[in-house]
Amino acid sequence: MDRMEFVASEDFARSLDASDPLARFREKFNFPIPRHGNEVLYFTGNSLGLQPKTAREYVDQELEDWKTLAVEGHFHAKHPWLPYHEFLTEKMAEVVGAKPVETVVMNSLTVNLHLMLVSFYRPTPERYRIMIEGKAFPSDQYAVKSQIRFHGFDPGDALIEMEPREGETTLRTEDIETAIETYGDSLALVMFGGVNYFTGQAFEMARIADAARTAGAAVGFDLAHAAGNIPLKLHDWGADFAVWCSYKYLNAGPGAVAGAFVHERHAKDSDIPRFAGWWGHDKDTRFLMGPDFVPIEGAEGWQISNPPILQMASLRASLEIFAEAGMEALVEKSKKLTGFLEFLLKQIDDERITVITPSRTAHRGCQLSIRVEDANRSLFEELTSAGVVADWREPDVIRVAPVPLYNNFSDAFGFYRILKRCLGGTTEGVGI
Ligand SMILES: *Cc1c(COP(=O)(O)O)cnc(C)c1O
Repeated sequence: MDRMEFVASEDFARSLDASDPLARFREKFNFPIPRHGNEVLYFTGNSLGLQPKTAREYVDQELEDWKTLAVEGHFHAKHPWLPYHEFLTEKMAEVVGAKPVETVVMNSLTVNLHLMLVSFYRPTPERYRIMIEGKAFPSDQYAVKSQIRFHGFDPGDALIEMEPREGETTLRTEDIETAIETYGDSLALVMFGGVNYFTGQAFEMARIADAARTAGAAVGFDLAHAAGNIPLKLHDWGADFAVWCSYKYLNAGPGAVAGAFVHERHAKDSDIPRFAGWWGHDKDTRFLMGPDFVPIEGAEGWQISNPPILQMASLRASLEIFAEAGMEALVEKSKKLTGFLEFLLKQIDDERITVITPSRTAHRGCQLSIRVEDANRSLFEELTSAGVVADWREPDVIRVAPVPLYNNFSDAFGFYRILKRCLGGTTEGVGI
């Protein structure tokens, strides 16, 4: 729908909900209980996704099998633990646009990032630089800086952080391409977030991957804010690696098991340096307990330890919902839902707030980042007391993420109504 067709009314929001083909998915999630007497408007699925109602049953099944089968559960649990991670592979691969051989669920995000850097950041005296987006998520900055130092280089020289042009808040793809070309032969790795956690900008990963590979650099993506949020085609884009977590848009619960992608072109290359552990060893001979590591072909060969089954159970619950809804339909709804929220914010037209997230749908996911004048946190606090669960990011941004799986158009309208009231705008026609 063209965003010009939106109307800022509760009835209109309800009519969008009534015609939403994904509306029934809201029922599959547990919403937090009302706070301060107000129903909760949950907009922090970009931070911790809601609990799928099936999560408890899936986790209980593993507790039950552990109780009744003990060690036999590795082979005889309803979903045997030995190959448990394999039950997640296909659906996870679908979410990130990868082949199953390129996808593995393991560890947590920053750990996976380090494991991928071990394999794909192999600096030489000539080619040693890493390019990332400026103000990347801190964990990513720490990870790359520590890897640079680990190899004996100086982050002050080896780390290139791309900043927006003067007066702009988001990056232009052509500027990234030019910088990649300029640093050319000195670039060992280009690594971007799929969606920047602060601005909500979705990077043009196909173009970045192209430019990096043309320059002869490896290319990787951190998809923490992209997986389950925007359309991804990791295989086609030709990234060397990607990592993501599954407690944000993927709703697998706090500390959930993360994902990693290694492109198929590396699948059979057992010479790539890596930190090895027995779970990455060839499955046919793993239990022969031999002294030499033979990696499984593909992303699974980067596993180190046997994984946490209870955590994978909740991820399985969530991925089944994703498979049922389908990323394509989710993205379609997402564009409309976030477009509606953006439209409503424009109706408020108050100089104290500005949306810094790009307005082109190809350049963002569901999150809108609202900059607050003078970094006045009291607006955020008022929203919170009114039942809005959003998040404040220093120095001056409120992030709201209407998630297409479980948020609806009435939620967006509810936010608009409350925000308008908190800004002291008229409440005429919108009720209290
Ligand atoms: C959320 C997030 C993380 C968090 O890292 P963990 O290892 O899961 O604690 C890292 N990087 C990015 C870009 C994130 O958005």
